[in-house]
Amino acid sequence: MEKHQDDAPVIVVGGGLGGVATALALGQQGRKVRLLEQSAEIAPIGYGVQIGPNVLPMLARLGLEEEVRQAAYLPDDLLLLDAYTGNQLFRIPLKGSAFEQRFAAPYIAIHRVDLHEILLRACRRLPNVDLNQAITVESFRLQDDAVSVQAAGGRTITGSALVAADGLRSKLRTQLHPTDIWRDTGYVAHRTIAQREHAPQRMRDRTGVTMLTGDGFHVIYYPLRGGSEINIVGVFQVPGALEPDTPAYQRHIAQLIDSATAEVHDVVGVLNMTRRWSIADREPVRRWHQGRMTLIGDAAHATLQSLAQGAGMALEDAVTLAELMAGQPDDPSRAFAQFERQRFLRTTRVVLESRSLWQMYHCGGVEAEVRNQQLQERTTEDYYRCLGWLWNPSKEGK
Ligand SMILES: Cc1cc2nc3c(=O)[nH]c(=O)nc-3n(C[C@H](O)[C@H](O)[C@H](O)COP(=O)(O)OP(=O)(O)OC[C@H]3O[C@@H](n4cnc5c(N)ncnc54)[C@H](O)[C@@H]3O)c2cc1C
Repeated sequence: MEKHQDDAPVIVVGGGLGGVATALALGQQGRKVRLLEQSAEIAPIGYGVQIGPNVLPMLARLGLEEEVRQAAYLPDDLLLLDAYTGNQLFRIPLKGSAFEQRFAAPYIAIHRVDLHEILLRACRRLPNVDLNQAITVESFRLQDDAVSVQAAGGRTITGSALVAADGLRSKLRTQLHPTDIWRDTGYVAHRTIAQREHAPQRMRDRTGVTMLTGDGFHVIYYPLRGGSEINIVGVFQVPGALEPDTPAYQRHIAQLIDSATAEVHDVVGVLNMTRRWSIADREPVRRWHQGRMTLIGDAAHATLQSLAQGAGMALEDAVTLAELMAGQPDDPSRAFAQFERQRFLRTTRVVLESRSLWQMYHCGGVEAEVRNQQLQERTTEDYYRCLGWLWNPSKEGK
């Protein structure tokens, strides 16, 4: 562990996966870190997350590969089905020699709580990492050789650098880019984790990530925790005025999936329809930093979940940022400028490709027929090649 003379901590705002991983990566270098999270408890929302083969190497660099592997479920494949016919549009194997030769690490599904807990436990083992909850940061102020944040209640906390990992609706991004706002898609997500033994048989039989795509909706589900649980997400286009848990809302969802297969009805039948998340992303912006302050994760480049890479990008950011800061121990501004240059195109490609996929997943009519034909023409090798830049950045990436 290197020793850092500077007594002022690096301030990390946000205790999501991106913020906690940054605190850990910097803490492992011997830096003093102070993480500020607005919630009363630094605890994640308890649903599943898919982690592509590009991400486990990041967790390995934090010394967590084994622990993560233990907690992970390894899906057999990524399966896309037409929601109306059940026809297979693609099947991308995630196991076997062709996958293993191509990609350096497995594709995993993990409970977010488990991943978060692994990162938090590692942080708690470091005396130089101070995890603070119930602190809502309102703004930041740059000084010549320091940076401070103003928290609700009038508190000011000063550090040597500031990493803003405060998510999609980042207040610190708004301070940096006052006219920039998240981009709502008009879609909402409902999420549930079901015990496998209580799920419909059809869902129990699937061993990979299964997605059914329809006009204005999709559903996706996959096993977690050794297959004992199933993570389920339903995404629906919903007129803004419709409140959840009302008869009109239920009628709307019923109409959307009316002519879909029994499997779609199975999935929606076990979804919790009372709690929902608005689905939004951010327009790419080139400037993430200002002096000693930088954005990372969703605050810098929030993406739609079509490629299942938002958390993956936040974890890549955390490790990359800490390594660049280690190379510029006394000049965080320089490290942040390097970080922005190094990460901008890759994360922007994730945002933009996710938008195209979003459009492709939710189209209808003849557009959907053309899509189906195109997807069915492709081979496994075609899909692996398309995903190489993302899943295997050290060999095929940009
Ligand atoms: C339905 C759905 C499915 C998804 N599936 C996947 C997937 O399979 N794989 C994947 O890689 N990604 C997935 N994502 C994306 C992923 O969840 C996000 O990209 C990821 O969580 C971003 O991490 P983050 O740390 O940047 O931000 P967040 O997780 O949003 O964390 C931000 C943290 O900052 C705190 N905070 C906010 N404002 C303040 C403030 N002012 N002061 C103090 N604290 C503050 C918040 O409370 C929160 O804890 C999915 C997203 C959705 C919506």
